[in-house]
Amino acid sequence: MRTSREIHLAARPRGEARLTDFQLTTVEVPEPAAGQILVRNTWMSVDPYMRGRMDEGESYIPQFEIGAPLEGTAVGEVVASRAASVPVGATVTHFLGWREYAVLDAAAATAVDTALAPPEAYVGVLGPTGLTAFVAVTEIAPVRAGDVVFVSSAAGAVGSVAGQVARKFGAGRVIGSAGGPHKVARLTGDFGFDAGLDYKARPIGDLLAEAAPDGIDVYVDNVGGDHLAAAIEALRHGGRIAMVGAISGYDEPVPGPDNVYDLRRKDGSLRGMLVTSYLDRFPEWIGKAAGWLADGSLRTAETVADGIEAAPGAFLDMMRGANVGKMLVRLG
Ligand code: NAP
Repeated sequence: MRTSREIHLAARPRGEARLTDFQLTTVEVPEPAAGQILVRNTWMSVDPYMRGRMDEGESYIPQFEIGAPLEGTAVGEVVASRAASVPVGATVTHFLGWREYAVLDAAAATAVDTALAPPEAYVGVLGPTGLTAFVAVTEIAPVRAGDVVFVSSAAGAVGSVAGQVARKFGAGRVIGSAGGPHKVARLTGDFGFDAGLDYKARPIGDLLAEAAPDGIDVYVDNVGGDHLAAAIEALRHGGRIAMVGAISGYDEPVPGPDNVYDLRRKDGSLRGMLVTSYLDRFPEWIGKAAGWLADGSLRTAETVADGIEAAPGAFLDMMRGANVGKMLVRLG
């Protein structure tokens, strides 16, 4: 019988998650039933939203259960198939990450074209994180020609793509924030931002006011809290904010900004988004992004941890900001 190592939730974190909240477990892999496939996962994603799934309570997606495997985006090779639609040898993405092998209904897997991009790209820039960036700057807070755009967590997976896509859709000036001089240098050096703000060095409100003295038109919010307050303060008349994430409050809730009501006098908008509501835009995004990746005009970065046993540490590292670009775990 084939075995698989997988990561279970051992305890619900209080505040910041710790390694002891996770458990590496070996399980026997069942044979796929009719209509199912067996996938050997090669890459998996660790994402900020997973922190919320570790808590108790109701959410837009079921919570992780103690003693059960975690889940998330993964890509892998089909090694056994009882579904005519998905042959052995196909590379597929699916949602049963955090394990070496996954048995799932073929209908829950999506075949990807590895001639277009390597498998791991479909977990990052050609996967949900890239789609999130695309939807944020084209639909939620649409960028118009000449706009001043501000992106937080800009050296991360969503942020690094959002800044570059904003430019492609006409942004005149693109400003990003990140934690620490090394990450800020990557913003202007690698990801084409005009300015990088180190929010750990000085208050983000002061930095943003200096970098955009005439204000901003669009803000892609990955952070919430002080970043959102600073962006509302800097927002020009008719400005648009995409509420993509609020990672500053994922471990411990932080109070919302006290200036949200200013959006009224600015005719400003603040609109949330869930990427799963925009999956129909995947083909459009993959078409565009694959072309930009091929011609070198969209630059991405990955931070890679190796082996399923490294997955909890990779998640913790990502939450603390150790990643540049997409945080991935290579499973083999
Ligand atoms: P990421 O940006 O690659 O990684 C997370 C980053 O958050 C860290 O590298 C760290 O960067 C930053 N961070 C952590 N604590 C922070 C704090 N207190 N203040 C400021 N920055 C902090 O992660 P991602 O996958 O691209 O996700 C980015 C955001 O998008 C998250 O909020 C996520 O929940 C959201 N998201 C939303 C959707 C959706 O459907 N709405 C989909 C995907 C992602 P620094 O070192 O720069 O601090």
